[in-house]
Amino acid sequence: MANQNPNGRPDRPDRRAAKAAGAVRTRRRGGSRPVLSAWTIAAMLSVCVGASHGGAAPATEPSGAVASLPATVPAELPPWSRGELDIYHINTGGGNAAFFIFPDGTTMLFDAGDFDHAGAVARSRPLVIAPRRPSDQTTPGAAIAAFIGKVMPRGAAPRIDYAVISHFHDDHYGAVRPGLARSASGDYLLTGITEVGERVPIGTLIDRAYPDYAERMDARQMASPTFANYRAFQQAELVRGVKLQRLAPGRTDQIALRAGRADFPTFRVRNIKSSEELWTPGGVKRLFPRAGVRYSNGSFNENPESLAIKISYGAFDYFTGGDNTGMSGLDDLDGVDVESRMAPSVGPVDVMTFDHHGNRDAMNARLLRTLKPRVLIEQTWVSDQPGGEVVRRLANQAIWPGPRDVFATHLADETRGAIGAIVDRTYTAAGGTVAVRVAPGGGSYRIFMLSDEDAGTKILKSFGPYQSR
Ligand SMILES: [Zn+2]
Repeated sequence: MANQNPNGRPDRPDRRAAKAAGAVRTRRRGGSRPVLSAWTIAAMLSVCVGASHGGAAPATEPSGAVASLPATVPAELPPWSRGELDIYHINTGGGNAAFFIFPDGTTMLFDAGDFDHAGAVARSRPLVIAPRRPSDQTTPGAAIAAFIGKVMPRGAAPRIDYAVISHFHDDHYGAVRPGLARSASGDYLLTGITEVGERVPIGTLIDRAYPDYAERMDARQMASPTFANYRAFQQAELVRGVKLQRLAPGRTDQIALRAGRADFPTFRVRNIKSSEELWTPGGVKRLFPRAGVRYSNGSFNENPESLAIKISYGAFDYFTGGDNTGMSGLDDLDGVDVESRMAPSVGPVDVMTFDHHGNRDAMNARLLRTLKPRVLIEQTWVSDQPGGEVVRRLANQAIWPGPRDVFATHLADETRGAIGAIVDRTYTAAGGTVAVRVAPGGGSYRIFMLSDEDAGTKILKSFGPYQSR
């Protein structure tokens, strides 16, 4: 969360943010119909002619579909069907939330952020906080639950088989603050994951430290109202039969297909990292003391504790790693470089999410050079995401050669104004829920920008197919 960011970032959002976001995302006609903004179209066209990404034309034709979008892409994303792997990076304006439908219909939610929006707006000036989606009347938990209800496999009741919390920051699991509704089924308030869990049944709830919180957390953080609320939620879930677990690095059977292992033998979720522990082919290594690391001012650094996973399906590979960081030493005297050590455990991927929302202390060159992503997806909520240095690394063909497409759930005009035209040259599209649909068997995939104005499956733009590598 912002107040714990090593860059000392405060936070602020609202009408200016909404206005700016509207300009970047879409302009509305008749109050609901989205139209591409000029910059996005320009960025898309530059992709079409291969002028972006250092001039390297895509080897495959991921952008070919853009030109023919109106004729070939349906207005609504067709429902998931068996054999497909769907990954939805849901734009709520409240932090990270990604919903997965595995090839046999098993589901997973990775994070459910909900920070104090009004407080962030007040504290963050002159930074600009992303607007809430679909509206400032909708809580992120409600928006996530509604989205899940909309994309669930046909005939299936909404259900989250695995709910995974990357780390204990508001923008990943919620924040207790005045005015929250109380659970009807337990002694806790509804925010982030607790609100999603109130609305959608969870099978297994996984975080980075259960049950050894005292060993792996800061005493002050454990005593916070938000964590106490999460613990009360856990206890209520336990009574309801929900399994509580810590992500165990190295395992490939902790997050697994519920009913389709024989039908989809190449599908696998590999646990890469959890708190201080990193899986390597040679065994699990400890990156830093179990008690964690602190900033120079003494406060606990939660970000490098984030857990990380890699999903593989045939030739397709996807990485997501919460707010892990990649700077240390003279680059960031308070930083912890997890990324450089984690990268070899992940290897090359087709699609990756940005670590730490693309803040300047993440997405380092070693990570990018090793993962060599074809597609990058950034989940953002404040105008200093991405950091300018990060954009320059993304655009740098010397770090890893070849085409890459970059998508963001939100990009503020203030961000573009500060970093410059390289943002528009580097980003393929921004503004909405970013969906990845992997074809049966994993051989290819497509990217869809979905409207975040309702439950969110209206297609704004479509990219691909990309060939998995
Ligand atoms: Zn975060």
